[in-house]
Amino acid sequence: MSGGDSEPKESTLSCARCSNPAHLQCPKCVELKLPREGAAFCSQDCFKASWSSHKSVHLKANAATGGKNDEGWLYCLRKGQTRTSKLPHFDWTGSLRPYPISSKRDVPSHIELPDWAMNGVPKIEPESSLQHVVEIKSPEQIARMRETCKIARQVLDAAARIIQPGITTDEIDRVVHDATIAAGGYPSPLNYHFFPKSCCTSVNEVICHGIPDARVLEDGDIVNVDVTVYYKGVHGDLNETYFVGNVDEASRKLVQCTYECLEKAISIVKPGVRFREVGEVINRHASTSGFSVVKSYCGHGIGELFHCAPNIPHYARNKAVGVMKAGQTFTIEPMINAGVWRDRMWPDGWTAVTADGKRSAQFEHTLLVTETGVEVLTGRLPTSPDVFPWLKA
Ligand SMILES: [Zn+2]
Ligand SMILES: [Zn+2]
Repeated sequence: MSGGDSEPKESTLSCARCSNPAHLQCPKCVELKLPREGAAFCSQDCFKASWSSHKSVHLKANAATGGKNDEGWLYCLRKGQTRTSKLPHFDWTGSLRPYPISSKRDVPSHIELPDWAMNGVPKIEPESSLQHVVEIKSPEQIARMRETCKIARQVLDAAARIIQPGITTDEIDRVVHDATIAAGGYPSPLNYHFFPKSCCTSVNEVICHGIPDARVLEDGDIVNVDVTVYYKGVHGDLNETYFVGNVDEASRKLVQCTYECLEKAISIVKPGVRFREVGEVINRHASTSGFSVVKSYCGHGIGELFHCAPNIPHYARNKAVGVMKAGQTFTIEPMINAGVWRDRMWPDGWTAVTADGKRSAQFEHTLLVTETGVEVLTGRLPTSPDVFPWLKA
């Protein structure tokens, strides 16, 4: 028996939209050699109706290949592929490089899955009216958000406890994955738009969406761990940037300033405040310290959907519309750079790095607007590890 192709037979495919037996394949996906699950449709009608969300799959494929079909770099998109030792041509902005990615971790069958878990394509999220309207959560939804966010906090804390020189970011991913499953949750990033791992780990010049891999953390690195948990039908999302061993003074200032940017932004949250004010507060504090604010990635609404309205930029003079209302839940997650604000994308289609290769830090919380102010749903717990020197005083 010959090995290799383990993809299902065509007769077993079901429509990516309605789950009926599917006999049509998206021609673009065939051309890009993308997985057949998620690219199959029962009818032209279902194919057309899915197009606005489905086409993002092709963009990701193009980004991952840099427009060319470079075998080793389809790892986000092709089942069973890992990042190979062959690096694509790219003018790397700093000294960090990609390393091999371990195979996809298993999720036991009793865990409730978001709709992208099986084939990599979120279906409800892009079509939802909650991309345009900011939902006011019911007390029942808020109770579930509180539970899920507390689990997400405990999962991130478990990751924080193992960070030291000599461990790999893949080991961080294993801890995040196992702790999430042990709590009965699903690690939301896993297979979201084909993201291959259960959390994001962003080292040094990586701004966000770094993929956990076999690189060993070195003394003096900084590493952001971004965790999202799906539990009881809702998502909870937070991240923190940690020191690996002894970190230079400039990096310590950057990380502390980023922490303060998030704290200051949270302090203005209450009903009636404009979403665009968040960016003013963050920019004021970052630029006072000589740092810059990333513009390409924003805070987001969250709940039954991983990403929805409102969109919350972290930079000054942004055009965000609307005011905060009690019952809304969203994230604030400033990314602050030591050098220029501009970002670049690695050929993997995920890893966002600073254009000048200098370091970047980030902190994130999921927040609830209350009648009088704000509740930090992912706030630190009495059990959270003491990893930030500025909190010890
Ligand atoms: Zn996050
Ligand atoms: Zn987020």
